Amino acid sequence: ADTASLEELTDWLARFQALVVENQAYLTELDSAIGDADHGSNMARGMNTVELKLGSPATIDALFKTAGMTLVSSVGGASGPLYGTFFLRIGTTAGAVTELDGAALAAALRAGFAGVLARGNAEPGDKTMVDAMGPALDALDAGLGSGSSIAAAASAAADAAAAGRDATEPLVARKGRASYLGDRSAGHLDPGATSTAFLFRALADALGD
Ligand code: ADP
Ligand code: MG
Ligand code: MG
Repeated sequence: ADTASLEELTDWLARFQALVVENQAYLTELDSAIGDADHGSNMARGMNTVELKLGSPATIDALFKTAGMTLVSSVGGASGPLYGTFFLRIGTTAGAVTELDGAALAAALRAGFAGVLARGNAEPGDKTMVDAMGPALDALDAGLGSGSSIAAAASAAADAAAAGRDATEPLVARKGRASYLGDRSAGHLDPGATSTAFLFRALADALGD
């Protein structure tokens, strides 16, 4: 059957850690233009702590509960509670299982996104991580709905997240620190949308054949 396993989802988090560590300076550079120059260090510290705390969870809910709680408690910035909520909701929605079929995976990620929206109150177009996450999940649903494999749908989701990230450049920020700049926030990629594009790149790579 076409499923995402506990091992693959554990690998997702490891690949996300690797990408944020590799791109830490870049994420911080983006945040220095329209924020407070800490997005790279926030995400690298958070995901490094997740990898230290993970151990060998027996089920998918335990994996994401640890990841989410660790991010909420170890990252001071806006991104920690938002990514933390994303992972916590994925865990509670997935439940105490060791694999998810495509529909269950999509439902868990959609619940995570709903948590981000509820916690941060951002709407599409506010120049936040929402602008990468929303298109990614829409592409995942569309791919699975048209009969694609999980791997192919996740690859489409990664492409959509990257396009959503790119589309944040001209936007004026309406949420988070970048919103303090008003019109001067335009002309820069959003740091959180950029890390979210790495999140979905990592997912596609972990689920890829
Ligand atoms: P901080 O802004 O507290 O320093 P980070 O620099 O780690 O935190 O993260 C900034 C990113 O968080 C932004 O680029 C944006 O994508 C995201 N963000 C900020 N506020 C919100 C919000 N209310 N909803 C969704 N995402 C948000
Ligand atoms: Mg910041
Ligand atoms: Mg900060």
